[in-house]
Amino acid sequence: MRTNLSVDGDRLWRTIAASAEIGKGPKGGLRRLALGDDDKAVRDLFGNWARESGYGLKVDRLGNMFVRREGTDPALPPVLIGSHLDTQAAGGRFDGILGVLSGLEVLRTLDDLGIKTKRAIEVVNWTNEEGARFYPPMMSSLAFSGQATVEWANERTDRAGVRFGDELKRIGYAGPEPVGGRALDAYFELHIEQGPRLDAAGIRVGVVTGGFPTRGMRIEITGETAHVGPTAMARRQNALVAAAHVAVAIDEIGWRYAHAEGKTTAARLDLWPNLPGIISERATLFCDLRHPEAAGLAQMEAEIETALPDCARRGRCKVEIAERWGFSMMGFDPDLIGLIRQAAADVGEPTMDLCSEAGHDSYNVATVCPAAMIFTPCTGGISHNEAEDATLEATLPGVNVLLRAVIARANR
Ligand SMILES: [Zn+2]
Repeated sequence: MRTNLSVDGDRLWRTIAASAEIGKGPKGGLRRLALGDDDKAVRDLFGNWARESGYGLKVDRLGNMFVRREGTDPALPPVLIGSHLDTQAAGGRFDGILGVLSGLEVLRTLDDLGIKTKRAIEVVNWTNEEGARFYPPMMSSLAFSGQATVEWANERTDRAGVRFGDELKRIGYAGPEPVGGRALDAYFELHIEQGPRLDAAGIRVGVVTGGFPTRGMRIEITGETAHVGPTAMARRQNALVAAAHVAVAIDEIGWRYAHAEGKTTAARLDLWPNLPGIISERATLFCDLRHPEAAGLAQMEAEIETALPDCARRGRCKVEIAERWGFSMMGFDPDLIGLIRQAAADVGEPTMDLCSEAGHDSYNVATVCPAAMIFTPCTGGISHNEAEDATLEATLPGVNVLLRAVIARANR
């Protein structure tokens, strides 16, 4: 492989800047929730870029977008690169976006250099990776990998009760293609680390070995409305108070496992009626547990189950776990990791092995084809925050590693 092989960093940075104009947050980051008008706008832009370069574009029934540069042997399954263009409610300009637009930059670089590959290369934008509007996260790659149905995904609702399927149709991205069920050769996902280790060590390429087992839960708490004045303390069933006990119990479990890198989050609380003069009848609490080992996660989950009856008693409400979801990645594909290491060695870039503490679509895709991830530094490890930042200088080596690994795999 030629030694001067490089993507056009300035062009990559221009595409990221163009994306950052769509759905600007108040503090300079992005608020581009899945299936909103801004998500449609960035999808349109991505699709236009694909068409301008003469690539194929296919959209499946869940809005996953696949941009395809043909290979010389159409019979071979393609190599897939991707991530997501949606963001958190107060998200950054790079989370997910860098992975999709690095994929596009790889295709454009191959065109510039007149490089043909044996296999086609496709760049995917997964719908609703973040789960910020419709939970759970990564649900479209979940369906793509056959672990959930299209119908289930379409029935998910946002906080206002709007159906995923209706919003997908409204923005024009309920495509005709079937979801998944086709052969893929490999999947590469480049992503900012979302943690501080690469940035602190001054290392620009992270080799992701796996991801923390994670469990999400929706806990439903039921009390009864009553007047805040005349209702005696002994007669109250305040769902807000019971939810507060649950939130504290969850947090305390996280502290107990902190020595082993366990983490718990009481992340979102919805209350009804949530007004000053009335006791709350319903509370919905979303929580998240993470641990580097599946056994540790199971213990944390068991501790929550044990803690809930006491929270229910103290809050005088009914407390139940209404829904659970989860993801984990015990190890990415050794061959793809080998290609990433080789590419880093070829460009003279030191690497650091990392276990991802965030969830990624690659965990789902890894169940249907070999998958691997490259991490690049983000300044100070800040992410899911509008201040999330990355420099071209720190990012470029990782994108060039992606380019080389993808070419090697696509010529296999
Ligand atoms: Zn992401």
